[in-house]
Amino acid sequence: MKYFGMLKIRIYNTLTKQVEEFKPLDNMKVKAYFCGPTVQDSPHIGHARAYISFDVFIRFLKYLGYQVFYVRNITDIDDKIIAKAKKLGITPFEVAEKYAREFYEVSRELKLIPPNVEPRATGHIPEIIELIKKLLARGYAYVADNGDVYFNVSKFKEYGKLSGQKLEQLIAGARIEPSPHKRNPADFALWKAAKPGEPNWPSPWGRGRPGWHIECSAMAMKYLGETIDIHGGGMDLIFPHHENEIAQSEAATGKIFARYWFHVGLVTVKKEKMSKSLGNIVAVKDVLKEFDAETIRYWAIQTHYRKPIDFSLEQLKNAEKALDSLYITIFKAKEYLGKAPEGELGEEKRTLENYKREFLEALSNDLNTPKALAILHKIAEELSKKLKKLSKSQIAAYITLLRELGGILGILEQNREQRIEEKKKRGKDVSKFATSEKLEMKGLAKDLLELIVNVRSELRKRKIYDLADKIREELRELGIILEDTREGTIWRITV
Ligand SMILES: [Zn+2]
Repeated sequence: MKYFGMLKIRIYNTLTKQVEEFKPLDNMKVKAYFCGPTVQDSPHIGHARAYISFDVFIRFLKYLGYQVFYVRNITDIDDKIIAKAKKLGITPFEVAEKYAREFYEVSRELKLIPPNVEPRATGHIPEIIELIKKLLARGYAYVADNGDVYFNVSKFKEYGKLSGQKLEQLIAGARIEPSPHKRNPADFALWKAAKPGEPNWPSPWGRGRPGWHIECSAMAMKYLGETIDIHGGGMDLIFPHHENEIAQSEAATGKIFARYWFHVGLVTVKKEKMSKSLGNIVAVKDVLKEFDAETIRYWAIQTHYRKPIDFSLEQLKNAEKALDSLYITIFKAKEYLGKAPEGELGEEKRTLENYKREFLEALSNDLNTPKALAILHKIAEELSKKLKKLSKSQIAAYITLLRELGGILGILEQNREQRIEEKKKRGKDVSKFATSEKLEMKGLAKDLLELIVNVRSELRKRKIYDLADKIREELRELGIILEDTREGTIWRITV
């Protein structure tokens, strides 16, 4: 493991707009924060992609021996949650609970590494109030006549340093929420005065609730300290959310808030942004009905994390095929292991080390997951090609490496039974996972099976295909796979 110390991780930093060496402040300890969901609806495939991308980065760091303290929040109070509650005729707390649970479920299914802490905004009202008080005391915020508290962007000279947005352009472009209570149209709410029927908490400025941005600053600082190593989110959060997080955090502490900013590209559907009004939102739970988690992960990372992805079922099908081809190589090799001769690792040791280095270098180079996947396929191809010539220990070393590197991406973590189970759950053909061993049958059982196969061949000759197909389907359910080839019908047995 130790030679990985030589590996320099390079990552694109939205703040400096370049790929830089990633060096945590405290040696091998990484403080990471990622903006979690606003729990007002089911998580969609764009969210999944963002979480998966960051998950791979976290897994990679952990693999290299970093101690990662990872915080991902849940926004459980927000205008959208309140609007949804009104629509459904339930309380905003119930809306938040329902979708938070759904998010946990989806996160678990997608095999996202659980954060060390998953704080919720409503659990941190005192911390939020403290932070707003600090901003008021330092002259960066003001209380409006209606009880709202706003951040005064003109006081923070570096406003716009993350997104490159200029204050003047912002105002002209009107990408901001208008309010008669603001001094400057670009100012943003830290605290919103209570409106009738909305959840609210006591504060020095009257009852109300936090604005969206302040919670992330308050929670990141509470669990990670005033300066964190890496902060991430979807690209749509760069402005205004992350710009505002920087402004309010750095105005309050006078210190750099996050040293690296990691942003994940968006997922579009037919080149359009997913949105309620277009009705084109693809929920993760629906995709999970048709594709297993590892396929979704493969799909998400086969494109570089900063590039946009246009969602299509075709891509998911291809991802599934590609992933399964890796699995089939592993399963076949494992099956052959028993027949392989004993022997040393020999030259294969260096071959495998080279692949491993190439793979880790790909991930070190701004998390180049498409390249990392291509290397997995190269390893698998080489294993397939050489299989019959390799010794037991060599085959085992190939399989171990594929599993080990796949694990950094959160794929290739299933055994044959689990993979078959995932497929069967979704009504998919599992025959490609069948073992190629000849049926271990003797005597009557074997004779009977051969008789059935011969009868079926006769049916096919007479073009009675429906009956022939029925026999094949019923045998398949018993775990016996028939395959019609030019040389006749062959059978295989699934585990
Ligand atoms: Zn956030």
